[in-house]
Amino acid sequence: ASRVPKNGDDAKVRVVVRVRPYLDVELRSDDELVPCAEILKSWDGEDMLRISDKKTSRTESYKLDACYDEKESIATIFAAEVEPILPTIFRGFNATIFAYGATGSGKTHTMEGGVNQPGLMPLALERIVEMAEVRGSKVEVSFFEVYMDRCYDLLEPKEADITVLDDGHGRIQLRGLAQVQIDNIEDFHDLFQDGCTRRRSGHTGLNDVSSRSHSILSVIVTSNDMDNPNTEFCGKLNLIDLAGNENNRRSGNEGVRLAESTAINQSLFVLSNVINALNANEQWVPYRDCKLTRILQDSLGGTSRAVMVACLNPGNYQENSATLSMAARSR
Ligand code: ADP
Ligand code: MG
Repeated sequence: ASRVPKNGDDAKVRVVVRVRPYLDVELRSDDELVPCAEILKSWDGEDMLRISDKKTSRTESYKLDACYDEKESIATIFAAEVEPILPTIFRGFNATIFAYGATGSGKTHTMEGGVNQPGLMPLALERIVEMAEVRGSKVEVSFFEVYMDRCYDLLEPKEADITVLDDGHGRIQLRGLAQVQIDNIEDFHDLFQDGCTRRRSGHTGLNDVSSRSHSILSVIVTSNDMDNPNTEFCGKLNLIDLAGNENNRRSGNEGVRLAESTAINQSLFVLSNVINALNANEQWVPYRDCKLTRILQDSLGGTSRAVMVACLNPGNYQENSATLSMAARSR
């Protein structure tokens, strides 16, 4: 059966799980590999996931909108979770796709992709560029990092601060951030490759902050209303590779690392508070409590669709438990 994403008033965030395969290095190690995540069954458009701790035999079960095991390709996840949202972007709506999970759980693989395996970011762009050609829409992208509550441009790095503004019509704008028009997909691939490299080489002056920052690819699509030539639709899709949600404090962090982990924990905590407030239909949503949610204010809640992909490492019960408890709270 095909999975149709919900778009009801009470389903603001769709939460799905992706379990990555064991890596070659893990398979070659002497460690006993006991998969701790098990997808039980699916019915009624929901899947059940059970995780168990081999040391204590403790188990926990979670209900999710969908679960994808290591055999399911990214193309399947794209077709089920992202593609159905794209037409709404051409009608002027906004949407957000997140990858959430501990470092090493497959967030970057899911969003950026791996060797010869494009992730949700390039797959979305390919499809959006095709759709834009047919419809005569304009496609622009920004690609940036949020690190310690500051924004860093990954397309055109510069010293000046990037500021978050509300344009007075409820749309968030980032002043000082490059927004590049994409006329063909080859241009995008080049830009995106450079941005990903910049992310890994740590242009903040510190070494590789890619696991300790959130990276955001924003795709802005401007389309004409067929029925009303004087009206333009402007929709935005945010694709986000969140910072690792592992317990940053456990490693005895000090100095910069402590400040970093505080910023990560704070922003992920605020994000979960925002999602909970939206799902509970609360009047007050604490968007302004951190830079990440401030940026997402126009793309999370309201008429916006959102999907959170909770990424799991097949053998790490502790981390998966932390990831799933946040993910399950987001539904
Ligand atoms: P994260 O961004 O969450 O820290 P990564 O995406 O970097 O994690 O994944 C950790 C490692 O696992 C990388 O070497 C990556 O290539 C590999 N990996 C993750 N997901 C998959 C997958 N679905 N198939 C194959 N390899 C994967
Ligand atoms: Mg990563």
